[in-house]
Amino acid sequence: MGFSTKWYKWIRFGYSTASFSVLINGSAFGFFKSKRGVRQGCPMFPLLFNIDMEGFSRYLDRDASLGLFNGFSVVNDGLVVNYLHYADDTIFFLDNKKEELTNLFSTLHVFEFIAGLNVNTSKTRIIAIEEVSELNALEDEFGCKTDTLPFLYLRMPLGAKPSSTTIWNPILERWRGETSLMNSFNDLYKLDRLRNATIAEHITVEGSWKFDFKRILTYGEANSLAALFHFIGYDPPAMDTLPDTRRWPLHSGGIFSVKTLYAKMIYDDGIDNSPYNFVWVSGIPPKVNFLLWCAVYGKLNSQDMIQYKGIDIHSSCILCGDCNESQDHILIHCKVAHKIWSSITPNEQWAWVFLESMLSLASAWFNNKLSTSGKVVWNIIPAAVVWVLWKERNCRTFEENYNYKTDEELCIEAKSLVLTWAASFGITIYVNYFYSIRN
Ligand SMILES: [Zn+2]
Repeated sequence: MGFSTKWYKWIRFGYSTASFSVLINGSAFGFFKSKRGVRQGCPMFPLLFNIDMEGFSRYLDRDASLGLFNGFSVVNDGLVVNYLHYADDTIFFLDNKKEELTNLFSTLHVFEFIAGLNVNTSKTRIIAIEEVSELNALEDEFGCKTDTLPFLYLRMPLGAKPSSTTIWNPILERWRGETSLMNSFNDLYKLDRLRNATIAEHITVEGSWKFDFKRILTYGEANSLAALFHFIGYDPPAMDTLPDTRRWPLHSGGIFSVKTLYAKMIYDDGIDNSPYNFVWVSGIPPKVNFLLWCAVYGKLNSQDMIQYKGIDIHSSCILCGDCNESQDHILIHCKVAHKIWSSITPNEQWAWVFLESMLSLASAWFNNKLSTSGKVVWNIIPAAVVWVLWKERNCRTFEENYNYKTDEELCIEAKSLVLTWAASFGITIYVNYFYSIRN
């Protein structure tokens, strides 16, 4: 496609030299090279894919101009459409000639050799727009199934009559939540005379719900109606001249926000004492937030947990060599942990005391006397200590030939992590570390 050799080398270098590893308890274990494909979420991939697809488009254009297949004319003697691309979905338009289908598949196979992008025949469909003889024979010959109109393209029914209301139902269902009212209260829906009405048409001018059923409801149906009212609320929304729209009831402006949902969940499920600020410290890597989250709720796979899950292993704490390994031991009670916690917290007027568990530590970890920047540092400390301890424990446990860090090295590492993460807030702590925490 006219790119320079240097460019090819760059791209090849970017993809072929990367190696991958499996994370076990947050630590990388072993490495392997990628043989094919790209990493999920690779930021360069969409651009490369576009370049590739551009080549594909040109290639198809050339074959179409050679008359290997004809698309359809949108207007007489005007624009001819041979194919439509959307991301990795492609539709080809062919005349009802087997020869064209053969040409198309040959073209695709040649492209396969050039670009390495295979046609997935199990996801390919031949769709006849009008009567096509021996459609099933084509299915066998080209190894892909046949389908009829309308079919789903980008989750939209293609080839359906847009004026038909039924085709819009699945699309609307997708927007209405998990189960539609029609499905949840199907007995009532069947009886309603105003099935396709708007919500406004179900509200009287006096502002109450209005249902026009075909007959008097049975006892069971009346119960169902009561359940419906309970679900949609006994009072209908206030009528205005605006068209029907969806509103988020937890927000005064009717707009969805995660904050309102979270507040509601806390209110309903009583998790208001979750140590949110302890875990979700901003400015630190999300994987460290996640580790803290697991630690607070005792979800780390320390040996006591593994034994609890029925796997029989016994060995002492790899940091101190003395006690049985448990999560709270490694992170709080171990003498190595104690050294790090003590070294990192201000030591003039402070003494590090053991707390029973990470959860109780999380609940107790606040300090209102500090300055704003001091609080930032204060909140980062547990993240740094827990990260350093857990990483060292994993490296010692899983990595062959790992050089154990000394307690002093671990203390320094925890401190430098605090400094690095605090720097993301623009807080510089270079000279007097403890001074910054207290001031
Ligand atoms: Zn220990």
